[in-house]
Amino acid sequence: MSDSIKIVFTGTGSGRSSLNRFHSSFLIRSDSYNLLIDAGDGISRALLRLGIEFKEIDGVLITHFHPDHFSGLITLIQQMKMYNRQMPLDLFVSKSNISFLKELLNKSYMLEDRLGFVLNFQKIETGKRLDFRGKFTLTALENSHLQKYRDYPGKGLDFKSYSLAIESATGDLFYSGDVDSPADLDVFNFNANSILVTETTHISIEAVIRLLQEKEIKKIILTHLDADDPSTLISTISASFPEGLSRITIAHDGLIISV
Ligand SMILES: [Zn+2]
Ligand SMILES: [Zn+2]
Repeated sequence: MSDSIKIVFTGTGSGRSSLNRFHSSFLIRSDSYNLLIDAGDGISRALLRLGIEFKEIDGVLITHFHPDHFSGLITLIQQMKMYNRQMPLDLFVSKSNISFLKELLNKSYMLEDRLGFVLNFQKIETGKRLDFRGKFTLTALENSHLQKYRDYPGKGLDFKSYSLAIESATGDLFYSGDVDSPADLDVFNFNANSILVTETTHISIEAVIRLLQEKEIKKIILTHLDADDPSTLISTISASFPEGLSRITIAHDGLIISV
């Protein structure tokens, strides 16, 4: 038995579909619970490509309901049915999206009575620390990524979008989720042992470099990449903060890190 957890990057692309990067998602792997963070279009194939079996996934958490983060979930549940899953599947989503997901499953003929396994819906509560069989904890923190949709009242939209703080016995990992601006990262209490996984679509690389210069952060991993080729990012970092290069990793699909 090991106390450390691993992060498997199952997708590192942005909302833009790509032949080289699946949409942004990762698996938190431990000895006794595997939690998938986000499930955009193509997540089932992304898992197959990495040799991760559907039955290995104990739960899925959706950070927010943009299609690149949730639209593969119904297909993933269909695959679990086809592979005769029996273990319950935990689904962590914002409160108002539980009924939406149930409706979507119903209309997609994924009837809970016929699945062969239980869907255990759990609403995400801001600031509440969830424990995953003693191997790691996860605290969801609301960010302002979806606040722009407040300009469209009356459409029944959910404005909840989450950043995540994940703690294990051997280290902490913070995940930006999709954000609105670098200010959204101020919720995290970084220390010299922290790993930050941050998206790069709504935060500039310059802002990431500033963070590295100002805060005690062991390592920053860049994901949710708009471009397949990271060479522009690398040359920007090399030009303005070359000593930062050793503390920045540009993620690719299949990258595994230990926390
Ligand atoms: Zn996104
Ligand atoms: Zn988004």
